[in-house]
Amino acid sequence: MPLLPILRFPDPRLKTVAAPVEMIDDSIRCLARDMAETMYEAPGIGLAATQVDVHKRVIVIDASETRDHLLVLINPELVESEGVQVCEEGCLSVPGIYDKVERAERVVVRYLDPDGKAQKISADGLLAVCLQHEIDHLEGKVFVEHLSLLKQMRIKAKLVKQSRITA
Ligand code: ZN
Repeated sequence: MPLLPILRFPDPRLKTVAAPVEMIDDSIRCLARDMAETMYEAPGIGLAATQVDVHKRVIVIDASETRDHLLVLINPELVESEGVQVCEEGCLSVPGIYDKVERAERVVVRYLDPDGKAQKISADGLLAVCLQHEIDHLEGKVFVEHLSLLKQMRIKAKLVKQSRITA
């Protein structure tokens, strides 16, 4: 299975709002498998289809320490959120940058699994952060957009400079 290239901030394609998946077929299941492989290889704990330039509402997450709790969420929808937590986040699309972001402490997310079955997950801690981070990607939002404009400008400048050196 091929590893997928990951878009890097500030690539404007990361701002695309993803469309809902209308039919869960083999192409979607295949996309989810390739995304999971790309996430594990990176390594990361979550990946949204937006980050691999596919603008459909699909995310994969494995926030477990044992790296064997893969979640594939299709058309995920945040239905409840409460509390506040601040956690240091990073992102495969923003390599080398970590910063504190304020998120809800507990969330409930409704989604479809790869068999098209409706599922609901309640999460707190790291998994809740990860769900909110990945759902943001589907809305065209990267975690650095939660930071101050000054920080965003610095991060952009740093990554643009890096990409010139490696290009
Ligand atoms: Zn991310």
